[in-house]
Amino acid sequence: MHGIASITTHANAVTLPVRGTLPARCPYYRGVADCLFCAIAAGDVPATAVTSTDQVLAFRDINPQAPTHVLIIPREHYPDAAALAAADPGLLAEVIAQAHQVAVVEGISGGGYRIVLNTGAEAVQTVPHVHAHVLGGRPLGWPPG
Ligand code: AMP
Ligand code: ZN
Repeated sequence: MHGIASITTHANAVTLPVRGTLPARCPYYRGVADCLFCAIAAGDVPATAVTSTDQVLAFRDINPQAPTHVLIIPREHYPDAAALAAADPGLLAEVIAQAHQVAVVEGISGGGYRIVLNTGAEAVQTVPHVHAHVLGGRPLGWPPG
């Protein structure tokens, strides 16, 4: 029997085993233990949703860098864009399509916007659940920092 404490108090994230083998009360039942964006996808951590589909969720970045700054995640956990591209390119395409839909909903698709997928340490990926940033609503500088 898995105890919740044994799942959530590890210093290192623990990937949960096969779905359906954990008690339903586990808050990370559908995701990866200690993954912030899995917790947001599960509704266990609050976020401000912009769009939502069965497979993809878009929500506002908690520290916005532009008037529109929205994150798009697959509900399923993949650590980064490379892993998602290798495992499920159709889902990666849905993430990008949803990024454009967010730009339309936010009214920035005509003026232009940026889609960013920080991948790995040197790109300063801080959350190891693949996410696309949609940034816009102001002129964006190039090259990025
Ligand atoms: P990255 O550096 O590409 O991994 O981006 C992670 C993003 O997640 C940053 O822009 C953070 O501001 C954002 N972020 C962190 N925690 C939250 C949260 N609880 N809700 C919304 N956005 C968050
Ligand atoms: Zn995750």
